[in-house]
Amino acid sequence: MAIQPIRFFGDPVLVTPASPVVDFDRELRQLVSDLTETMQAAPGAGLAAPQIGVPLRVFVWDVDDEIGHLINPSLDLSDEMQEGEEGCLSFPNLVYETPRAFRAVAKGFNMHGEPIVVEGTELLARCLQHETDHLNGVLFIDRMGAESRKLAMKEIRESEWFGAAIEKGTAPTIKVSPHSTFGLGT
Ligand code: ZN
Repeated sequence: MAIQPIRFFGDPVLVTPASPVVDFDRELRQLVSDLTETMQAAPGAGLAAPQIGVPLRVFVWDVDDEIGHLINPSLDLSDEMQEGEEGCLSFPNLVYETPRAFRAVAKGFNMHGEPIVVEGTELLARCLQHETDHLNGVLFIDRMGAESRKLAMKEIRESEWFGAAIEKGTAPTIKVSPHSTFGLGT
């Protein structure tokens, strides 16, 4: 078990769609363990494998005292929406209003390859959507309304962590991710 460094916005792995898990092996169990430990140390409510530089469709969550993980998820979302603020460990200290579906049903597998269904409303639903987005290379700034996104971009440009990336020459041009949203939110 080991805490891994979390990748910040600007790292290409965060805007690259992740690959499905094929082998439910010891390495996968190690990944789930590392993700869980890294999330808890942060601390955060969820963490997706690309956020620690692993381009696989795996994420973990810690919501309402329930820790879980999901592999190769697919989502069904309610038409009903929820308002609320959201943050992301790949955008330190950034918290903005981000609309999400009120209810989400996520189907996928546990680390032993057994099919599981996770159903949640409110915060768990928000987390399932946020983390599944990560696996598609979609970030929460892509889900914000125009006004929140504008403010978020300004805050990112002025942030110390983004400034450090500029100095290292690894900062991206800030623009909204061109990825499609894979039909989520419908
Ligand atoms: Zn995130």
